[in-house]
Amino acid sequence: MSRDTSSGRPGQRSRVRVIVLQQGLGPLDYATPGGRRLEPGQIVQVPLGPRLITGVVWEADRLPATEVDDARLRPVAGVYDLPPLPAPVRRLVEWVADYYLAPHAAVLRMVLASASALDGGRTSIEYRVTGVIPERLTPQRAQALERLQGRQGLVRELATAAEVSDSVIRGLVKAGAIEAVEVALDTRFPPPDPGHAPPLLESGQASAAATLRHAVAARGFQPYLLDGVTGSGKTEVYFEAIAEAVEKGGQALVLVPEIALTEPWLRRFEARFGAPPVAWHSDLRSTERRRAWRAAASGEARVMVGARSALFLPYPDLRLIVVDEAHETSFKQEEGVMYHARDVAVMRAQLQNVPVVLATATPAIETRVQVERGRYAHLELPSRYGGAELPTIEAVDMRRFPPPPGRWLSPPLVRALEETLGRGDQALLFLNRRGYAPLTLCRTCGHRIECPNCTAWMVEHRLLRRLQCHQCGHSMPVPDACPECQSEGTLVACGPGVERIADEIAAILPDARTAIVASDTIWSPAKAAALVSSVEAHEIDLLIGTQLVTKGYHFPDLTLVGVVDADLGLGGGDLRASERTFQQIQQVAGRAGRGQKPGRVLLQTHQPEAPVIEALVSGDSEGFYAAETESRRRHAMPPYGRLAGIIVSSEDQREAAAAARMIGAAAPRIEGLTVLGPAPAPLALLRGRHRQRLLVHAPRNLDVQSAIRGWLGELEWPRGVRVAVDVDPYSF
Ligand code: ADP
Ligand code: ZN
Ligand code: ZN
Repeated sequence: MSRDTSSGRPGQRSRVRVIVLQQGLGPLDYATPGGRRLEPGQIVQVPLGPRLITGVVWEADRLPATEVDDARLRPVAGVYDLPPLPAPVRRLVEWVADYYLAPHAAVLRMVLASASALDGGRTSIEYRVTGVIPERLTPQRAQALERLQGRQGLVRELATAAEVSDSVIRGLVKAGAIEAVEVALDTRFPPPDPGHAPPLLESGQASAAATLRHAVAARGFQPYLLDGVTGSGKTEVYFEAIAEAVEKGGQALVLVPEIALTEPWLRRFEARFGAPPVAWHSDLRSTERRRAWRAAASGEARVMVGARSALFLPYPDLRLIVVDEAHETSFKQEEGVMYHARDVAVMRAQLQNVPVVLATATPAIETRVQVERGRYAHLELPSRYGGAELPTIEAVDMRRFPPPPGRWLSPPLVRALEETLGRGDQALLFLNRRGYAPLTLCRTCGHRIECPNCTAWMVEHRLLRRLQCHQCGHSMPVPDACPECQSEGTLVACGPGVERIADEIAAILPDARTAIVASDTIWSPAKAAALVSSVEAHEIDLLIGTQLVTKGYHFPDLTLVGVVDADLGLGGGDLRASERTFQQIQQVAGRAGRGQKPGRVLLQTHQPEAPVIEALVSGDSEGFYAAETESRRRHAMPPYGRLAGIIVSSEDQREAAAAARMIGAAAPRIEGLTVLGPAPAPLALLRGRHRQRLLVHAPRNLDVQSAIRGWLGELEWPRGVRVAVDVDPYSF
């Protein structure tokens, strides 16, 4: 950073408007330091009271004076030695702030990602365990040394990982048990080579790839829906578009839903391009993050792969964005700035004037309607790669084939499992519930154990011998006695989770080698990679998993998929429930029969006549989507109408309810705009805050954001109340 202390003569001063990374402050004006010109996008430090804070120059030329006259402006204190944020990035910040009603500072913070990324310096100091045992070995020290085996990071990161205080780590450094290592930050990322191993594409793939290559070469904004059944080879197709972007000297960005699952994807990328892409996700160590951010900002990172936040990095020469598995719900951010990464990706592509590819086998209704409206181009891959057949899907009517008491797998599914494993093939059981049992109930008094902070049952995890809340992470030992009536030994586990299904398999197929695939067993890219290798090596016969297994995996000998409870997602009265169930089951079914052998899918259901189940069994996706789309149209629901949630929360339930009613009563009278609620929000109690939701419904052409801005801008609420707006909420 260069600091400027010369004050300059007043006549020479000009004014810049700076957005500071401080919540609750609007843009502030500063004087440019003597004689120096600053450009929009430059990252600076400015004085605020006694402190210096980081900000970005937003406007620099011909600024109208404000109440503060030029002579009294304080000067910018320093300018970071970094390229200015490119114009499309600044426009993106403005668009996201406007559209999602978020403060500019909050959006800008995603662009700058971490203040530490900004500091210069070619090296950073990290710490790691040496193997020396300190003379004084307290329990905390022992815990730290045990947990930090093979890890490296800043003191703060190590302390967090080991669940000890910073001072424990510092003490270990003094005692020689942890040492400092210098990490180079300017080592280069090897560039991917577009000519490394080009694939031989099938004709459908080749024509889609040619279209995308042309689009990338020509530039110009255009969204593409790359719509191909599971196993059709969409990845190879968009890899060609990436190759084109790299050949042209530009950058490409690939958004993936869950970074823990990208290991197989990374291997394919490396096989195709001879070098890995640069990864961006929340689990990066601070030094890795700093290095990746700089590589993105300098253009050195030619291909970035990341979770949704990678969208905000200041790429200087972005030529292509790909959203892989674009239907995934994890692209919707539900806290902080509540944005949908799929939609922001399209906007970023528009601002950048480049193509964007949404790749999925199960497009969202919103995306399909954009194709119908002619806004998105449609690239279809109707059959699987290499002549593989799509699996057959059958419903198992649980009313006719009930499992024995205390069991969850029906006789037809058990028989199919036996046959499959007997042939030496592999199978997958899908149940979207982590842990052993979703509910713990007292047999004597009927009490159900609930999280004290959330509207959620405590879920039993037998492997950990604890009850856990899946919303906030609160956990406790399984009590011996009922917390309500104090009877001992009366608590029973109700319903199955994946761990319980694993127990059942152990009882009925004792020789089967099984693995549980859930976010608490597969929580890192390394774990995911280990799982993939052991399935490929046939060390595992049967996978039992939550929604994590629905994604991306390709196992040629996996020929049977059993859906333990196909009705699970259908309750709850959410208008999106059928669509989500359809997508999820299609995706998990898509794991079967991807090689030369045909696949079979069994759906256990109590309502085989439900439209979703019938559509899955008959394979009539078009019919299903047409009916769902028609129902959205009839109710003027998205994308035929607009929705926004206003979430009012407080630690005090009555305060939240009162504030929500007050806000509801002040709703503007605008033709077509209706306000539903307040009602308890989808997560009515979350991390100790009671949440009420008002749902604003409006026609498609109404500027809902302006209406809400005007409405909330007039109101005041008590200090303990927080109000957040969720534009285009996921559930409605
Ligand atoms: P999708 O993402 O559409 O479900 P994938 O891209 O995962 O499908 O492709 C399915 C499988 O087919 C993968 O193992 C992939 O490596 C293979 N594959 C697809 N296209 C080709 C190709 N042109 N040449 C060789 N293998 C291919
Ligand atoms: Zn009881
Ligand atoms: Zn909780």
